[in-house]
Amino acid sequence: MLAEHGDDAKVMAGGQSLIPMLNFRLLSPAVVIDINRIQGLDQIGEHDGGLTIGALTRHRALETSQAVSHRFPVLGAAMTHVAHLAIRNRGTIGGSLSHADPAAELPMMAVLLDAKITVARSGGSRAIDAADFFESALTTALADDEIVTHIDLPAPPAGMGWGFCEFSRRAGDFGIVGVAALVARSDGKAGQVRIALLGVGETPLRARAAERILDGGAFDDDAIGAAVEAVRETVEPNDDLHASADYRRHLAGVLTERALSDAWRRAMPGPQ
Ligand code: FAD
Repeated sequence: MLAEHGDDAKVMAGGQSLIPMLNFRLLSPAVVIDINRIQGLDQIGEHDGGLTIGALTRHRALETSQAVSHRFPVLGAAMTHVAHLAIRNRGTIGGSLSHADPAAELPMMAVLLDAKITVARSGGSRAIDAADFFESALTTALADDEIVTHIDLPAPPAGMGWGFCEFSRRAGDFGIVGVAALVARSDGKAGQVRIALLGVGETPLRARAAERILDGGAFDDDAIGAAVEAVRETVEPNDDLHASADYRRHLAGVLTERALSDAWRRAMPGPQ
């Protein structure tokens, strides 16, 4: 149907972003294609320490999955910040990634966890690195005739610690800024550091300069301070009715420090 109707059509998964956009008349597709009854797209599968997650997996299923909390506890924690329970019961991972709200948790998780996002069209499929999938606010690398079918999360290194900190006005609101961090700990040094942010630009962001500062070095106040500064230099937040750009930049640093400290504390000490 997508091949037939192209950009006259919109896919509907959980409807938690699409229906508000229809209500506000921001979209008026001629055809709405409900994909909820496509078999097999709502599974979470484990493989070699990683996970394959079907596009129709509901937010609530991710939040309560033992495989997720065991292998990717940072993802389980992030899901508790997505909207309210009623919305998490309907919203799907494929819908959230395709909608690509820069303040949403799942796009940021995909970037943090180096997800591969598989998309399919009539007659073929391709896998896209999360780093290349999000092009700008509400815009992705998806073509009009493609849908997301599943994502793959590669196994994280053993003993990795994690932190997730988000600031929003009220529980359930979209975050003003959120930061997630992963840190491995070996010989008293930090390694495999990953830092991702939401709410600080047009897309979710990896703070690679800050990661490089911490990787392979002592995890002390100087290093954390330098990483926080690098994050504040990297982000390009906008002013909007929720917060000024300056406030978001300030928050990005504060939350980075907290997420990194949580990750370090949770990391299993490697060889000394
Ligand atoms: P839909 O609404 O069905 O679709 C969204 C878009 O994605 C549409 O353009 C649709 O065509 C497309 N699409 C859907 N599935 C696919 C697919 N498999 N392949 C290609 N395109 C597809 N989200 C957060 O992350 N954090 C929040 O704090 C948050 N707060 C919210 C608060 C409220 C009050 C509401 C109403 C929503 C909130 N959301 C939040 C959004 C929610 O998480 C949505 O569920 C999610 O963004 C979209 O998922 P969906 O399955 O409902 O997609």
